Amino acid sequence: MSSKPSHTPGAEPAPATNFLKNIIEQDLQKPEYQNRPWAGRPGGADVHAGAPADPAPIRLRFPPEPNGYLHVGHAKAICINFGLAKEYGGACHMRFDDTNPEKESEEFADSILDAVRWMGFGWEQGGEYNLYHASDYFEFMYQAAEFLIQAGLAYVDEQSAEDMRANRGTLTQPGVDSPFRNRPAQESLARFRAMRAGELADGAAVLRAKIDMASPNMNMRDPAIYRIKRASHHRTGDEWCIYPMYTFAHPIEDALERITHSFCTLEFEDQRPFYDWLLANLAREHTLADGGKLSPLLAQPLPKQIEFSRLNLTYVVTSKRKLQQLVTDGRVSGWDDPRMPTIVGLRRRGYTPEALQLFCARIGVSKADSWIDYAVLEGALRDTLDPVAHRAVAVLDPIPLILDNVDDDWADLCTAPVHPHHPEWGVRQFTIGKRLWIEAEDFQENPEKKFFRLYPGNRVRLRYGYVIECTGCDKDENGKVTAVHAQVFLDSKSGTPGADNYKVKGNIHWVDAEDALPATVRLYDRLFTEEHPDAGGKNFLDSLNPNSLTEVKAYLEAGLRDAWVGTVYQFERHGYFVADMKDHTNDAPVFNRTATLKDGWVK
Ligand code: ATP
Ligand code: MG
Repeated sequence: MSSKPSHTPGAEPAPATNFLKNIIEQDLQKPEYQNRPWAGRPGGADVHAGAPADPAPIRLRFPPEPNGYLHVGHAKAICINFGLAKEYGGACHMRFDDTNPEKESEEFADSILDAVRWMGFGWEQGGEYNLYHASDYFEFMYQAAEFLIQAGLAYVDEQSAEDMRANRGTLTQPGVDSPFRNRPAQESLARFRAMRAGELADGAAVLRAKIDMASPNMNMRDPAIYRIKRASHHRTGDEWCIYPMYTFAHPIEDALERITHSFCTLEFEDQRPFYDWLLANLAREHTLADGGKLSPLLAQPLPKQIEFSRLNLTYVVTSKRKLQQLVTDGRVSGWDDPRMPTIVGLRRRGYTPEALQLFCARIGVSKADSWIDYAVLEGALRDTLDPVAHRAVAVLDPIPLILDNVDDDWADLCTAPVHPHHPEWGVRQFTIGKRLWIEAEDFQENPEKKFFRLYPGNRVRLRYGYVIECTGCDKDENGKVTAVHAQVFLDSKSGTPGADNYKVKGNIHWVDAEDALPATVRLYDRLFTEEHPDAGGKNFLDSLNPNSLTEVKAYLEAGLRDAWVGTVYQFERHGYFVADMKDHTNDAPVFNRTATLKDGWVK
C-alpha cells in the first residue's frame, strides 16, 4: 500500500538547504567569523576595537530605500534576511538606505516598518534594537571620502557631464583618463571641502574613486562616489548639499553595522568588485607620500556581498517606480489597492503573513533569474487559509426563490459547521423562510445537459436545509427571470431522519431574504493581461486589465454582520473573502475576494 504524503500547511518539511545557507555554514566554521568584535552599535574601526565578540553568529540586514511601499519582491528579501538570521540565531538589522533625498519620505519609512512587523519579523534581538538609518552615517561617509582622497584613491573631477560620459568608454573601448585624474591629493581635498561647503553648483563636480579607466567592468572605471545635490533630506534637512552615491554608501553601511553577509539581488553582481575594493581600502593602513600614515577606518572581517535572483511574479510588476506610477496616474486607488502586489495591497486583499512566508519558502532562493507564476502565490494562500478559514454563505448574483407551499411567517433554524474539519469550532445558525436568495446561475428554465440544479420539475437540496422541487419562474417583459418558485418538503430537513428519504443530485446555497446581509463584494481579476507586463522594454501600462475589478451587490449569511475585519472567510463555492479594511462597516459591509477556491487562471 502506498501512503500519500500528507500536506499540513505551516508544517512544511524543513526548507531544503540553499546556496546562501551553504555559504553561511562554511563561514561559521572560520575562526575570523567566530571572534568578530561588535561594540553593540554601528561604527568604524575605533568603535569596535577591543569590543567583545559578537554574540550573534551572523549579522544580516534588510536595507530598503524609503521611496515607496514594499512589494512582494521585498517580502522575499525580508524572509531571506530576517528568516536566515532567525534560523541561525543571529541578528538582522532593519536599515533605511536613505542616501538619496529626492524621493524619500517618512510616510514611506513608516509603511516599511509596518510591513516588516506585519510579516512577523522585528529588529529587537538579544536586547539590541537594530533599527538604523544610512543618513546617520553621512559624516562617516564624508570622512571615508577624505580618507580615499588622501590615500590617492579618489579625486574631484570637474569635467562636464558630457565629457565624463564620453570619456567613460564603451564595453569594447577603454575609457579615457579625466584631465583632473592626477591632480594632487591636496587639491582634490580642497575642492571636495568646497563641494561640502556649498561653494560649487549642483553638478559642477563629482568625487570619483581612482581605479582603472580601462577595466572591462565599467563600474570600476573611476565610479562617482559623491555628487552635489541641493536637496532637503527627510531626516538631515539641509545639513548636506553633497550626497554619497549608493554604490559608495551601501558597502560602508554594511561595514559600520558589522554585517557578515550582505544579500542583494543579482543586478548588483557587477558592483561586487567595487564593494570589495572600497571596503578593503578603507580597512587597511595607507602610507602617505610625506611618510605619514592613515590608519584603517573599518574593522575586520569585512562584510561580503552575495547575490540572489530577484522575484519576478507573472501578471504584476515589482518595481517601486512602476507601482508608484500606477498610483500617481490613478490606475489604482492607492498603494493599498487590493490589486496591488504591495504588502499593504496584499494585506488588504486578505493575504496573511503565513501565506507570504509559505510562498517564499516554496520559491526558495537561487541565482537563476526566473518568473514565478502568480498561481504559486495563490496556492500558498489557499493552503494556509483552507485549514483555518471560517465558512459562510454568500449569494453573489441573487435572484429570489419563493417557497409557495409555506405561509408568509414560516421560519426555521438551520445549522452548518463553522469549519468542516473542526467540529470543535461549533456551528453557525441561520434562518430559513418563505423567501430566499439564490444564485441566478443555479436556475435554468430549459436546462442544458448535466445541469442538476434548479429547473422546473427538478429537486435539489438547499444546503443545510430542505429539499425543494422547482415549480416554475416569473419573467419580466424581456424574458429575464425575476423569481423562481418551488415547493419545500418539510420532512426533508438536513440532519433529520427524513432527510434520507430524498435522493437529489443537486445541492445549492441560499440565504434567507428576511435577514440576509446586503453587501458590496469586490471581485478581482489579474491587474495585467500580459504574463510579463514589463519584460523586454514593454510599456507595462499597455497591458493593464480594464476589468481587474468588478463590484457586485450580494447577500450574505446574517452572521457575517459581526465579521472580523482582517479575518478571511471562505464563502462556500465562491472562494476566500475578507472585509475591506478601509471601506467596510457593519451597516454597509464591503468584502474583497482574496482568491477563488481553485486556480481559475490555468492556461
Ligand atoms: P525597486 O526596484 O522596486 O525600487 P529596490 O531593489 O530598489 O526595488 P530597495 O528598497 O533597495 O528596492 O530594496 C530593499 C531590498 O529588497 C534590497 O536588498 C533588494 O535587493 C530587495 N528586493 C527588491 N526587489 C526585490 C525582488 N523583486 N526580489 C527580491 N528582492 C528584492
Ligand atoms: Mg531602488
